[in-house]
Amino acid sequence: MITTSLARSLIHRTTSFHLHQHSSFSHSYSLRCYSRKMSTETESIVARLKRSGLFQTKGLIGGKWTDAYDGRTIEVNNPANGDVVASVACMGEKETKDAISSAYDAFSHWSKLTTTDRSNRLRNWYNLLIEHKEELGQLITLEQGKPLKEAIGEVTYGASFIEFYAEEGKRVYGDIIPSTLSDRRLFVLKQPVGVVAAITPWNFPLAMITRKVGPALACGCTVIIKPSELTPLTALAASELALQSGIPPGVLNVVMGDATKIGTSLLESPQVRKITFTGSTAVGKKLMVGAAETVKKVSLELGGNAPCVVFDDADLEVALKGTLATKFRNTGQTCVCANRILVQEGIYEKFTQALTNAVQNLKVGDGFSDGVVQGPLINEAAVQKVDSFVQDAVSKGAKVLLGGKRHSLGFTFYEPTVIGDIKNEMLIARQEVFGPVAPVIRFKTEEEAIQIANDTNAGLAAYIFTNSIKRSWRVSEALEYGIVGVNEGLVSTEVAPFGGFKQSGLGREGSKYGLDEYLEIKYVCMGNMG
Ligand code: ADP
Repeated sequence: MITTSLARSLIHRTTSFHLHQHSSFSHSYSLRCYSRKMSTETESIVARLKRSGLFQTKGLIGGKWTDAYDGRTIEVNNPANGDVVASVACMGEKETKDAISSAYDAFSHWSKLTTTDRSNRLRNWYNLLIEHKEELGQLITLEQGKPLKEAIGEVTYGASFIEFYAEEGKRVYGDIIPSTLSDRRLFVLKQPVGVVAAITPWNFPLAMITRKVGPALACGCTVIIKPSELTPLTALAASELALQSGIPPGVLNVVMGDATKIGTSLLESPQVRKITFTGSTAVGKKLMVGAAETVKKVSLELGGNAPCVVFDDADLEVALKGTLATKFRNTGQTCVCANRILVQEGIYEKFTQALTNAVQNLKVGDGFSDGVVQGPLINEAAVQKVDSFVQDAVSKGAKVLLGGKRHSLGFTFYEPTVIGDIKNEMLIARQEVFGPVAPVIRFKTEEEAIQIANDTNAGLAAYIFTNSIKRSWRVSEALEYGIVGVNEGLVSTEVAPFGGFKQSGLGREGSKYGLDEYLEIKYVCMGNMG
């Protein structure tokens, strides 16, 4: 996610919540610069969603939809046109404390249910998510901007974590350890850690939640979700479906609004035993420090700086398809998006030309329009950051091959961009771009590619394209990354572990490993058994 101090300062200069009290309270700074009333198109989408019962705007505490106690609200905007699509509760410390109490009380019951019982409820939730994938997809496009097809794809992907953990929760096995003394029996039990706080970002408003909540609920934990203030509507709709699926009141709570106040309350509470976070490296570090006071378990999924290495011996078509998929998915706004495209000198000209031609054909526009594959960026701050990286690279000798500026559609649209002659020292190669910009670096040898790829504090995902089996193994092993795609640009799946080396995070999400993050290991020693 966004990591630079430059980005931070841009965000602070341009980002705004519209905080409203009932009357005319306006301590406001605007999350998006182009905030305006709803257009008729947005109105009809919102009206449809309201009829579906999935357009929730209050927080969820102890099974009850709850306003902020002081009545404050925060606006949610459609990034494609600035429309204000909703005003949602803007919560803080008091609401968070109540959500923690609800989760704490609910834990004693939920954790004692049989795994089959929990599994059935999770399975119901999965079914409801799939049944409502169109509406959930529309909510995602409305508040996050990604093309509707991609948004519906996120629902399917997000729901898969609930289905997977509904099953995997049945396999939380312990151990019997052969004893060193004849009258002793040694056991290992795995038990739920307790109340979990899940703090999530805006780029996958559903999937980043289900990836945490699925394993947490499956093994008996209860959860407080703190979705991004930019995209709370999807989280609220998914939670409404969780209630309908038989997940009891208090097991899943949602608070949103003032991130610092909510975060601090979650960190300070001794009842919260686990913090799981996806977001910027800067915020992740703060949470890690804050969690130390009460020694909570911590999982962090932070920023990446993914290298995508195309060797001379790659299949050009495969490399092109994979690079486009990893770079331009979600308009470049994922932490596993290729951030640096390293191309070996023998294939450099051919590949960059083919890449430029392909990127030229990517249709940009409102995510609700047919055929659009590139939506807007999340907000004005994001556009300014992307543009500043491009300008910085150009000023240091990089060559714009395509795009390189704001899109004529205005708002937060940016032209899909390819830039050649990038050096690994440039800002664009040091920081996460989080936008539709493909920076291409030329390299000579495999050793050099590995050195450039690893020359970063991040270590989330890396991609290599080669037809050599030996090189595939060699380079995969040499890359200091938690995830490596070989001849493949889309690697995320609920059945495989997702997470990073170095400053990209701690812990893994998805797969059997994802459950461990929510479990305590208990050793039981039975003596005098002789
Ligand atoms: P990005 O830079 O991509 O917006 P952030 O790390 O700022 O990523 O945001 C990810 C999540 O962290 C959001 O839900 C946001 O509200 C939350 N967040 C931001 N600052 C804090 C904080 N100080 N304490 C707790 N949560 C925070």
